[in-house]
Amino acid sequence: MKCPACENELTEHKISGVLVNVCRGSCGGLWFHLTQIKKIERLKPGSGATLLNFKLADGVKTYRGAEHPCPQCKTTLLYRHFFSKKHDTEVNQCAKCSGFWVDVGGLVKIMNSPQEERKQLVENYFTAIMDEKIAGMNLGNQDISQAAILIIIIFNFLKPNY
Ligand SMILES: [Zn+2]
Ligand SMILES: [Zn+2]
Repeated sequence: MKCPACENELTEHKISGVLVNVCRGSCGGLWFHLTQIKKIERLKPGSGATLLNFKLADGVKTYRGAEHPCPQCKTTLLYRHFFSKKHDTEVNQCAKCSGFWVDVGGLVKIMNSPQEERKQLVENYFTAIMDEKIAGMNLGNQDISQAAILIIIIFNFLKPNY
């Protein structure tokens, strides 16, 4: 499976029984199949935080603003739920297979920052994602609000515990 953002080959990781395809060592994107997100719901928050522990490639180009094809369905284009240039994060979903493409390059960078700064940076990041980005989605639309719930589940899975 290829990364929809940088075309690197994705690596399969199984963590707490959840299969995630990771763009490891390149842009830091994560692919979640819908069936895997259902499993995450039953796990403790932070169970997936170790997925973030790797170095990003220098100068890797992600195709921000361009349309990404679904890594699974190949031809279907992903729908973008939100994007943050400041936090180097975007969340897209496939309309066909309902899988999520979660680009968490900004969070991976935080995990690579000095330990004493990390906790505060993580808090700031999650406040911005939850209170600005997810809250800013069109939650009056039922499909979008359903997607927002799944996105919150994914981010809670990734959030490191301090
Ligand atoms: Zn990538
Ligand atoms: Zn798809």
